Amino acid sequence: MKNLLGSSTKELENVALDYGQAAFRGRQIYNWIYNYRNKKKNIDQIEVLPLDFRKKLKDDGFKISDLSIQERNLANDGTLKLLLSTEDNESIECVGIPTEKRLTACLSSQVGCPMDCKFCATGKEGLKRSLKASEILDQILFIENEMNRKVTNIVFMGMGEPLLNIDDLLLSIRSINKDLKISQRKITVSTVAVPKMINKLSAKSFQILGNCQFTLAISLHASNQKIRETIIPSAKNYEIENIIEDCKQFVRDTGRRVSFEYLMLSGVNDKLEHATELSYLLKGFQCHVNLIQYNQIDEVEFQRASLKNLQSFQSRLTQNGIAVSLRKSRGLDKNAACGQLRQNARNK
Ligand code: SF4
Repeated sequence: MKNLLGSSTKELENVALDYGQAAFRGRQIYNWIYNYRNKKKNIDQIEVLPLDFRKKLKDDGFKISDLSIQERNLANDGTLKLLLSTEDNESIECVGIPTEKRLTACLSSQVGCPMDCKFCATGKEGLKRSLKASEILDQILFIENEMNRKVTNIVFMGMGEPLLNIDDLLLSIRSINKDLKISQRKITVSTVAVPKMINKLSAKSFQILGNCQFTLAISLHASNQKIRETIIPSAKNYEIENIIEDCKQFVRDTGRRVSFEYLMLSGVNDKLEHATELSYLLKGFQCHVNLIQYNQIDEVEFQRASLKNLQSFQSRLTQNGIAVSLRKSRGLDKNAACGQLRQNARNK
């Protein structure tokens, strides 16, 4: 089976020519695929094409999607979470987060995840496989179709560790830029950090995309190595100071500041002493901290930090000259934390 999603206009024109059609038929396929108003996902529903051409493409195994919707969850604040089935009967999640001006798509890069972060539902199930670039891209089209508007921003914060799927991640970003017309500056790649992979990410980005202008977000979640290892077991392979050094190199290589994600966990990392320690760790460095309220999940012992601790923590970072913002939880009422929808579906 050949998925036409992610093909260039030139490649689609060649498909049309191979079938004795005029080249513009290829451009019609391209325009149809990326029009978010076209909700159908089947090649024989591209009605602008002649019936016999559609039939031949279908008979020869061409298609335009590998995914189908397994479950939809719409939260009161408009956040839409989709559980999608892959061809090999796995499940992945993606989320559409709307505001008046933006629609942010939160995407998965793998089926499951090998990193086993203790606060995360996805990490509990281990890794099944990495996603193909077309499966990553398709999540955006599903969100656009379902929400009937264009996605404006992308965050790779769904299931999986993107730095363990760098090639398909960057190929999907290339198509997001070129075909969906979303600039790299509107894309955030979030990682818990894997040794040597931050440098590899920027080097490969220059190779595949010609530059590296997306935002790198590190899921730090701790102010020192000891705390980090208790919540992210894979952290034992990568000292927190080495992560910061590699991030500084990323800033030098790309000119982009790095974001640090910090999940506030009650009694674990939410005290003022942690805020002071984090300030020293990040001092003199072109970066930004996002403090995040935790979405509690079953079977995990962590508790959400109090709003008072969150605000005190934020003030201390600000006093110490660290750029910081609070990220509000969205879609809390519909299992918005990564991996929760998939886990719930499995438990049914
Ligand atoms: S938080 Fe991200 S990296 Fe960690 S287990 Fe969950 S999906 Fe994987």
